[in-house]
Amino acid sequence: MSNIRQNLESVRNRIRAVATRAGRDPAAIRLVAVSKTKPADLIREAFEAGQTAFGENYAQEMKEKADALAGLPIEWHFIGHLQRNKAKVVAPIASWIESIDSNELAEAIDRHTAQRISCLIEVNVGDESSKSGARAEDVVAIGRRIVALDHLDLKGLMIIPPYDPDPEKSRPFFRALRELRDQLIPTLGAEHLRELSMGMSHDFEAAIEEGATIVRIGTAIFGERG
Ligand SMILES: *Cc1c(COP(=O)(O)O)cnc(C)c1O
Repeated sequence: MSNIRQNLESVRNRIRAVATRAGRDPAAIRLVAVSKTKPADLIREAFEAGQTAFGENYAQEMKEKADALAGLPIEWHFIGHLQRNKAKVVAPIASWIESIDSNELAEAIDRHTAQRISCLIEVNVGDESSKSGARAEDVVAIGRRIVALDHLDLKGLMIIPPYDPDPEKSRPFFRALRELRDQLIPTLGAEHLRELSMGMSHDFEAAIEEGATIVRIGTAIFGERG
């Protein structure tokens, strides 16, 4: 037997504890279990332990798992870098796409879905090492494009800071994303900026202290990836 049920409970307890300490409502924080590289059986096990939102990074892998688990009401979040020509694979499956970083990608997603998709703009705030994520100065234009499209609901922003085992190294990136969100409220509207997706297994507590409403957690739930 795997430890998924226990791991989930432990992560949920940690989310509750840090939210309460920070004076935030734990129910306002959504846990996305990141299942990339893990088999569908383990997703089913987590689902049976009460977890409904799952995050995947690769289009084809998400599709295979969604097909294998078609009977379960899973809320799929696409969180990886999405190539425009893969939008047609992801758009019919995903309830959320967290990694929109261009107008063209938003348009491709909109063309390939008949359902509504909740969208986040992935922002690259001051990470020279990363090639994905929109530049902060482009977020308004992408946000306006998303809002104008028929099937996409703009919900907020997402960030992946450069990896550092010390969560305090992630904190300035989380804070910068929250500050960017606050600056954008007059132009994009608070209703389109409620969500901040930030924080992974090693740094989600700092992210919650800085205002995360979505945390994306893989290793702490499913164990190390091979
Ligand atoms: C893999 C991944 C995660 C989860 O990382 P863990 O360290 O396993 O919790 C979160 N977000 C993104 C974008 C990822 O690619």
